[in-house]
Amino acid sequence: MEKLSKFLSYGRQVVDENDIQAVVDILRSSFLTQGPKIEEFEAAIAEYVGAKYAVAFSNGTAALHGACFAAGIGEGDEVITTPITFAASANCVRYVGGTVVFADINRNTYNINPYEIEKKITSKTKAIIPVDFTGQPADMDFINEVAKKHNLVVIEDGAHSLGAEYKERKVGTLADMTMFSFHPVKPITTAEGGIIVTDNADYYRKLQVFRSHGVEKTPYSIEQGDWYYEMTDLGFNYRMTDLQAALGLSQLNKIDYFLNRRREIAQMYNEAFAMIPEIKIPVQLEGSYSGWHLYMIQLDEKISRIDIFRKMRNLNIGVHVHYIPVYWHPYYQQLGYKKGICKNAELYYDHALTLPIHPSLTDEDVQYITTNLIKLVESY
Ligand SMILES: *Cc1c(COP(=O)(O)O)cnc(C)c1O
Repeated sequence: MEKLSKFLSYGRQVVDENDIQAVVDILRSSFLTQGPKIEEFEAAIAEYVGAKYAVAFSNGTAALHGACFAAGIGEGDEVITTPITFAASANCVRYVGGTVVFADINRNTYNINPYEIEKKITSKTKAIIPVDFTGQPADMDFINEVAKKHNLVVIEDGAHSLGAEYKERKVGTLADMTMFSFHPVKPITTAEGGIIVTDNADYYRKLQVFRSHGVEKTPYSIEQGDWYYEMTDLGFNYRMTDLQAALGLSQLNKIDYFLNRRREIAQMYNEAFAMIPEIKIPVQLEGSYSGWHLYMIQLDEKISRIDIFRKMRNLNIGVHVHYIPVYWHPYYQQLGYKKGICKNAELYYDHALTLPIHPSLTDEDVQYITTNLIKLVESY
C-alpha cells in the first residue's frame, strides 16, 4: 500500500461555510463579547442535553474551576478522580486548594471504577469528578449511589461526551454539574470554550458570579443609581465571547452528523480488529452510547508500543497515546504521589494506542489505517 501524502491527525475540527458566516456576522454586529449569543448558546446546549441551566466559560478548564468553586471545595477537602484523563480534571481541585485523590480504573471500560472510589472515601471527601473517557459515560448510576451515601457532589467531566448516552439518558442529566469542552478536537468546537450544565439554581448563580469577577447583578435602589454593582466573591474573567458562542451554535446544528460519522468509524475499526488477537478493541458497557471522541486500542504485551507508534507516524498516521496517568507528571510527583497507586491505570497506559477518529476521515483513510496496523502487529 502506497504511503498517504496527507497526515491523518488523531482528532480535528470540521468547520464549514455556515460556521464561518456565523462568526463573520458577529464581527459586523454591536457585541463581540457580553452580547446575546452567549445566552442563546447556553440555552441551546441546556436544551440539547436536557438540563435546566448552562453557564458558558472561556474554556473547559475554567468551567471545571467554576464547578469546584460552586461545589464549595476548598482547603482540606479531598476530591476523587481518575488518573486516565487530561490533567485539567485534577488540576481544577488544586485551583481551589483541595487535595486530589486518584481512584483506579475498570480494566475493560478504562473509566473510573466505583468500587475503587468507595475505597478512597474518607471523612474529608467532598466530591467525585468522574470522566467520560473516550466519550463513553462513566458508570454514573453506581457513582451517584456512592455519592449519595457519603453526601458528595458529583462533577462529571464530559469533555469527550457531548451527545453521548447512558441507559437512554443524555450526559448532562447524570451529575450535579457536567462540564463540556469545545476545544477543536472535542465533539463540537468554539475554538476555545467550555460549559457547565446543571439543574441546581444555587450552583447556576455561583457559576455566573465566578465567571465574571465575582460580581453580582444586584438590583440597584433609588439612592444608588444604575452604575451600582457589588463584587461579593473573588471571581475571574472566564467569559466566552459572542464570536465563540456563534460558532458553537452553528456547530451544534451538525452534532448528529458528527456523532454518526464517529460511530461509523468506530464500527469499521471494531470489525477490522475483531479477529486480530494482538489488538484489544474498546469494551462498551450495556446501555452506553459513546460519543467516540477517542478510539483506544490495547496492544498485546509482546508488541512494542513505541515501535508501532513510530512506524505508524512514518506512514503519516497520527496515532497518539491518551493519557499518561496524571499523578506521573512531575507536578504531582512533587506533591508526593507515588507511582504504582493505580495499577490498572498504569497497565492500561503501557499498552494504549490512540487511532485517528474524527468526522472528516474517509472510509479509505480508515482502511489505510487498519490495513497498515494489522500488517505491523502481525509481523511480530
Ligand atoms: C479537553 C479536556 C479538558 C479541558 O478542556 P479545555 O477546554 O481544553 O480547557 C478537561 N478534561 C478532559 C478529559 C479533556 O479532554
